[in-house]
Amino acid sequence: MTEVVRTESEEETAGVARRLAGQLPPGSVVLLTGDLGAGKTAFVRGLAAGLGIDSEEVSSPTFTLVQEYRPSTGAGRPAPAEGRGEGSLLHVDLYRLQGAEIDDLGLDELSEGTAVVAIEWAERLGAPPAGALRVTIADLGGDAREIRIERGRQ
Ligand code: ADP
Ligand code: MG
Repeated sequence: MTEVVRTESEEETAGVARRLAGQLPPGSVVLLTGDLGAGKTAFVRGLAAGLGIDSEEVSSPTFTLVQEYRPSTGAGRPAPAEGRGEGSLLHVDLYRLQGAEIDDLGLDELSEGTAVVAIEWAERLGAPPAGALRVTIADLGGDAREIRIERGRQ
C-alpha cells in the first residue's frame, strides 16, 4: 500500500510522521530515503512527537551512530519498563557510513526489539529488514516536498 502526500512546510512533514507514529506497532522499522535537506530528520522529529518523545531531542546524529530517545515521563505518563524499549525511538543515520561499518551496527538485532527504528539514508543498507516501511521524500522546490510512504509486505 502506497500513500503519497505533499507538504509545504517542515511542520506539515512532521505532522504526517506524527500521525503515522500512532499507527506503528512496536518494533516497526522506518526506512528514510531522500537527498540532503529533503526532510528526513524533520520526519523523524514527527515520529518522536507521535511517540510522546520530546522532539527537540532529535537532531542529525553526529558522533553517535544510533541514538535512543525515550518517552518523557511527564505527569500522567508511566515510566517505560527499563530495557524493554517499548515506546522509545532508535534513530540511525547512515550518511557517513559504508559497507562493513553498517554491518557492524547490528541493525537486525535492533529491529527485533520493541522500539520503533528510524533509519536515514536507508538505501545504504544491503538488506533492509523485511516488513519495513519505506518513506521517500523528494524536494519539489521551495518548501514543497512529496512524501511517499510504502508499507512493506510482512
Ligand atoms: P535531511 O535529514 O533529509 O537532510 P532535514 O530534516 O535535516 O533534512 O532538513 C530539512 C530542511 O528543509 C529543514 O531546514 C526544513 O526547515 C526545510 N524544509 C522546508 N520545507 C520543508 C518541508 N515541506 N518538509 C520538511 N522540511 C522542510
Ligand atoms: Mg538528516
